[in-house]
Amino acid sequence: MPTKRSYATLPTKIEKLDRLSKSLEGPEIYIKRDDQTGLEFSGNKIRKLEYLMEEALQEGADALITCGAIQSNHCRATAALGAKLGIPVYLVLKENREPEMIGNYLLDHLFGADIQRISEADYQHRRGEILEELATQLKQEGKTPYIIPEGASNGLGCFGYRDVIEEIQQQEKALGFSFDTVVVPTGSGSTLGGLILGKAMYDYPGEIIGFNIAADAKTFQHRISLILQEAIPYIDTHIPDTHIPDTHIPEADHPLFAPENIQIIDGYVGEGYGKSRKVEWHFLQHIARSEGILLDPVYTGKALYGLTEEIKKGTFDNTQRILFIHTGGVFGLIPPSTPLR
Ligand SMILES: *Cc1c(COP(=O)(O)O)cnc(C)c1O
Repeated sequence: MPTKRSYATLPTKIEKLDRLSKSLEGPEIYIKRDDQTGLEFSGNKIRKLEYLMEEALQEGADALITCGAIQSNHCRATAALGAKLGIPVYLVLKENREPEMIGNYLLDHLFGADIQRISEADYQHRRGEILEELATQLKQEGKTPYIIPEGASNGLGCFGYRDVIEEIQQQEKALGFSFDTVVVPTGSGSTLGGLILGKAMYDYPGEIIGFNIAADAKTFQHRISLILQEAIPYIDTHIPDTHIPDTHIPEADHPLFAPENIQIIDGYVGEGYGKSRKVEWHFLQHIARSEGILLDPVYTGKALYGLTEEIKKGTFDNTQRILFIHTGGVFGLIPPSTPLR
């Protein structure tokens, strides 16, 4: 089994969304505060980075390379972690125009990351090459770079959210009840993938459902299925994990890992990745005012909005208990000009 470093503040707490549940007259909705994994590296990315950093440090890495959108939460978390560990971070960010010094981009600078901006076309078609070129250049300077993929979404990154299933099961024991469904936004895939891996490995009975905030469900089903295939080799059956029985060591052909069995509810991307509609801002404002919780416009705002719309449609049985994972991203509230006053 892969091992990890410990940087996040865990376990994150679970709270009930009382007023939202009541107003919908549907299932009881709870929220797991992964937005509170720590201020600088708040959000879901740090759980994946804990595994990737262990591998990086074992390989003797003294430079980190990663990439993402200009307001990437993942890049900011990596920049913060690099600063904490004294390891230089090189970010390759996607943006055609000169960006405003706001939000995560500002924080990337505060943390001293080395930033290279590339066009959307280059990002889409050549980012692998560009990251490799950067790595080659650093190697020529005598460094040992470690490349972290977009969103830390690879097989190893999955283990961060596999662990969340174990964390939830312990919290369920303390709460005295269990959740029927765990809901999460999906962007690069390994958060949802990790929860599915956890479901397989811990034989977790709850349903795992993602809401995609970009592209479409099919794209993510395939991407996540591939990430899960990548995760399998990390599960070394010769080193038994104390708390995982042999019967729950999944094979690559585990039914939960088949694209068609990965549950993603489509229809809430709105105007596209990182673009918000008025209705989404109003929902975000409603949650801030009625629950005292800040959602982010790019991921959690859209996903929880999607969940409430699905509840209104009757997609979920009223007797259910649903756990929504707040994956963070709250610095994303700063950049956009909002239509609210
Ligand atoms: C990256 C991110 C997600 C999506 O997680 P993936 O593992 O990339 O699918 C969700 N919410 C926030 C706030 C994020 O930064």
